[in-house]
Amino acid sequence: MEGLMQDYELSLQHVLWRIERLHQKREVVTKRDEGIHRTTYGEMVPRINRLAGALKRMGVKPGDRVATLAWNNNRHLELYYAVPCMGAVLHTLNLRLFPQHLEFIINDAEDKVLFVDQSLLPLLKPLVGKIPSIKTVVLMGDGAPAQMAKSDNGLADMLDYEKLLAAETESYPWPKLSERMAAAMCYTSGTTGNPKGVVYSHRSQFIHTMGVLQGDNLGLTENDALLPVVPMFHANSWGLPYAAGMAGTKIVFPGRFSADAKSIVELAEQEEVTFLAGVPTVWIGLANYMKENGKRLPKVRTVVCGGSAVPQALMEAMDNLGLRILHAWGMTETSPLGSVARVAAGTKPEAEMRLRLTQGRVAPGVEIRISDPASGEELAWDGVAFGEIQVRGPWIARGYHNGYDADKLTEDGWFRTGDVAKISPDGYIQIVDRTKDVIKSGGEWISSVELENAVMAHPKILEAAVIGLPHPKWDERPVVYAVPRPEFKGQVTQDELIDFLRDKVAKWWLPDEVRFIDEVPKTSVGKFDKKVLRASAVPITAEVTEEVRK
Ligand code: AMP
Repeated sequence: MEGLMQDYELSLQHVLWRIERLHQKREVVTKRDEGIHRTTYGEMVPRINRLAGALKRMGVKPGDRVATLAWNNNRHLELYYAVPCMGAVLHTLNLRLFPQHLEFIINDAEDKVLFVDQSLLPLLKPLVGKIPSIKTVVLMGDGAPAQMAKSDNGLADMLDYEKLLAAETESYPWPKLSERMAAAMCYTSGTTGNPKGVVYSHRSQFIHTMGVLQGDNLGLTENDALLPVVPMFHANSWGLPYAAGMAGTKIVFPGRFSADAKSIVELAEQEEVTFLAGVPTVWIGLANYMKENGKRLPKVRTVVCGGSAVPQALMEAMDNLGLRILHAWGMTETSPLGSVARVAAGTKPEAEMRLRLTQGRVAPGVEIRISDPASGEELAWDGVAFGEIQVRGPWIARGYHNGYDADKLTEDGWFRTGDVAKISPDGYIQIVDRTKDVIKSGGEWISSVELENAVMAHPKILEAAVIGLPHPKWDERPVVYAVPRPEFKGQVTQDELIDFLRDKVAKWWLPDEVRFIDEVPKTSVGKFDKKVLRASAVPITAEVTEEVRK
């Protein structure tokens, strides 16, 4: 017997319908060079219609890729709706990538039109003559219509965003979409090899949005004001723009000021932000700034933090500022919500901190397992055994664009994440490392993440990254790259740090060397870039090891 429910196509047009019908008055605020730009969902809807008309006039057809190279701002949000809702595919380009990666990605996706913020136009210069699929470039001026010169571009026809919109009408005949159609593309950050294209469908985005909104997941509501520091090119800003549209949440965009703690704090204060989202490095900077300047953000109820493990020192520093971090795990290939570290009311304080520092429990809608890297066998959830996280569900990738890395799916259809974790009997996931970062010393494993967190708990240390370097006797040994807090620069020693670690990690985990640096290199999405550290690392010597291990 078949169910008698409607075959309603799950598409982002539904989110557009909601912002038009229900959330017209809700504000969308953007920090621009010339000041604060203010609009509402209600004012945006006719512009989204006009934009769809403009795309059609440019010859954009269903399935065509439309690229964006833009900050978190209101025009980018208009593209988030117009492109997928008219049947095309929104491809958000990472503006921090090297030109050769951008070139690779644009060619791999065969983008047809490119929307670029005026301040990012220089990024296109090195691509002239190398991205032939782009037929049109649309320039988004920071304020009124952009100032253009053909020589600025040299790529393709260049149009102005505001003039394009002005030439269209306020209604667009939105087509009937199939939920299986592609809605958006995002490339992985490519820490190994070339980036790979993840293609989200309307269905996956719709269900992911519902997932993000659940109370035990991120739980964004109509009463929130969201400030996404996480870029709109990083896994669709973690799905937050659509979740905000679905719920009717005010959005406050930091524009190109996302890396500036002072701007974030000011914006959050002025706009009464309740909900922040970003990677740990952003909050390390923000906590430092707030502490130094005696700032508080009493309206903020949640700071979603993911993308890398949250160090305990950061969780505590933010708690002391009255900012509650909600730790979440995911990846571009999981749309990205995978798990959230919510803790049941009534949990004892020590247990609460321990659980908040885990990657949490898998989000409803996603299934998880850990598997032995050698045998591939599923491992027990006993909090001890660790293996590769594998996931499946309606918003998990089943492959990459153009068929790269076909072996990312197991034979029985689970996605292999490359993250190594243990899972407690009650389902809390504890990521031990990335498969490629775990340090293999004398046949045993050392978690670079745990060691980093232990080092970052030292009061004189701001940031620390740990990598394994080749070792003649032990195969690999850990080396710490540590950044002292500005006030302790030159006043912290290797011996002091190693002594600090002695009662916190096993003796054979103690690093062979601590190297002090000014800043840990970061990837294009703000994570510690261990690839860069490894590439420039001076080898370690056996003598040093023996000295430390005494
Ligand atoms: P990306 O696709 O750039 O979002 O990177 C995804 C990867 O970031 C994951 O596979 C993890 O290795 C890492 N990651 C994301 N969130 C966390 C977290 N909460 N704790 C530890 N690692 C994380």
